[in-house]
Amino acid sequence: MEGELKPMDAEQLREYGHKMVDFIADYYKNIENFPVLSQVQPGYLRKLLPETAPTHSETLQDVLEDVQTKILPGVTHWQSPDYFAYFPSNSSVAGFLGEMLSAGINMVGFSWITSPAATELEMIVLDWLAKALKLPDEFLSTGQGGGVIQGTASEAVLVVILAARDKVLRRVGKDAISKLVVYCSDQTHSSLQKACQIGGIYPENFRVLKADPSRDYALSPDTLSEAVSHDMATGLIPFFFCATIGTTSSTAVDPLLELGKIAKVKSGESNSIWFHVDAAYAGSACICPEYRGYMNGVEEADSFNMNAHKWFLTNFDCSALWVKDRSALIQSLSTNPEYLKNKASQENLVVDYKDWQVPLGRRFRSLKLWMVLRLYGLEKLQAYIRNHIELAKLFEELVAQDKRFEIVTPRKFSLVCFRLLPPPSNEDYANKLNHDLLDSVNSTGKLFISHTLLSDRYILRFAVGAPLTEERHIVGAWKVLQDEAATLLSKC
Ligand SMILES: *Cc1c(COP(=O)(O)O)cnc(C)c1O
Repeated sequence: MEGELKPMDAEQLREYGHKMVDFIADYYKNIENFPVLSQVQPGYLRKLLPETAPTHSETLQDVLEDVQTKILPGVTHWQSPDYFAYFPSNSSVAGFLGEMLSAGINMVGFSWITSPAATELEMIVLDWLAKALKLPDEFLSTGQGGGVIQGTASEAVLVVILAARDKVLRRVGKDAISKLVVYCSDQTHSSLQKACQIGGIYPENFRVLKADPSRDYALSPDTLSEAVSHDMATGLIPFFFCATIGTTSSTAVDPLLELGKIAKVKSGESNSIWFHVDAAYAGSACICPEYRGYMNGVEEADSFNMNAHKWFLTNFDCSALWVKDRSALIQSLSTNPEYLKNKASQENLVVDYKDWQVPLGRRFRSLKLWMVLRLYGLEKLQAYIRNHIELAKLFEELVAQDKRFEIVTPRKFSLVCFRLLPPPSNEDYANKLNHDLLDSVNSTGKLFISHTLLSDRYILRFAVGAPLTEERHIVGAWKVLQDEAATLLSKC
C-alpha cells in the first residue's frame, strides 16, 4: 500500500477494495471463533484510541490492525451462526454486493431527476415484492398506492402516523389533535409509541390494549371494538390502529381480518381508522404459501411493512413499506423549494420519494433488494425461510423433551419462547432463575439469546435466522443451555 491515498482514484479503489473484501471474507471465515456477544466493558474503547484525530495520514494496514485488535472485540456478531437473540439481521453475498454497488454509485436520490433509475428501480422492486407477498393490487405503484424503502420499521410507522394524522385533521380541523386516538396492543413494538410522541399525539390518547394470553398474545377483536366504541362515545376521534404479524416478544399474529373490519365499520367507510400492519420480522415468511395465511385480512389495511433487513437476506437497512393511498403520505411530507424544482416533478410525471419519508436525502437501497431477488430467486428465498423454521422446530423439540424446561407459547415461525422451570412450588424464583440462565449462557460467548416478559414471566427467546446457522449450531446451543441450566439448578 504505497503512496498517498487520494480522495477518489479508480486504481486505488480497486487495490484497497480488494483488500477490504479479503478482510471481510476472512472475518466470515473466522466468525465462529469470536464470542457472539461482545464481552467488553462500557468505555473500553476510549482507553485504546488516541484523544484526537491524526494530523497526518495513516495506512490502511494500521487501520485494519486496529479493527482486528480493538474494534472486533467490541462487536457483537449478528452474523454468527450462533446468534439467536432479538431477531436476525441478515447479510448475504447478494445483499453485500448490492450494498457495495450502492456505496460505489453513491448518489442521493431524493427526486426522480437526481437519479431516475433509483426511483424507478425502487418502484419496480417493491411491486415485485408486493406480488411475492400477494399484497392486494391497491398496494402496487400502478394504482393510487405504492411501495417505498424506509430505513427501518420505526420510520415506516412514523410516516404513516403522520399521513393518517393529517388526513383526519384535514377533515375535522387541526385544533382537534387533542382528540385523536391511536390503538395497539401491549405486544405492539415500541416504535409506534415513539412515532406517536414525534407526531404530537396526546400520550393519554395512546391506547395500549391488553393482548389475550389465551390467544397466544394476539389482540382480541372485542377488546378493540369496546375501546373504540368507548372513545367515540366520549367524543374522541379514533384514527389509527396498528396490528402485528409476528410480535417482537413472541411472534403473536393479530387477527387482521376481524380487527380491520372493526376499524372500518366503527368509524364509517368515509372516515375510517387508518389500519397499519407491522410484519417487520414475519413478513418474510409470508412469501411461502403455507405462511401467507397469516396475512389474511391485509386487504383491510391501509399500510403494510416488512423489514427485508431482518430475515430476507438484505443487508441492513431496508424496510419495505406499502400504502394504498400515496397521496396521504405526500400531503403530509412534501415540500417544494425553488432549488429542487424541475420539469418532471412540476408536471407530476414522476414519484419523488423525498415526499414519502422524513429525510430529504436517500440511498440507492433498492439495488440490494433487487440483487437479492435476482441472485437468489423466490424459490431459494422460500427454501431459506423454511430451513430456518425447520431448525427452530428442531430446537423446540429438544426443549420439549427436557422436563426441566417448558415451551411458553407455541412456535409459529423461527422463534422459540421457552423457560427453565423453577424447583417445585417455587414459581417466585422462576424469573431470577431464567435471568441467571440467560446471563450465564451469554457470558460463555458460545451463543447469544435474548429475553422478554410475558404475563410477568421472564421468558427466553431463541430466534433462528442467521444465514450461516446449521443444525450443528442448534444442537450445540442446546447443549450449552442444558449444561448451564444444570449448574444453576444444582445451586438451588
Ligand atoms: C424489529 C421490529 C420493529 C422495529 O424494527 P426497526 O426496523 O429496527 O425499526 C418493529 N416491529 C416489529 C414487529 C419488529 O420485530
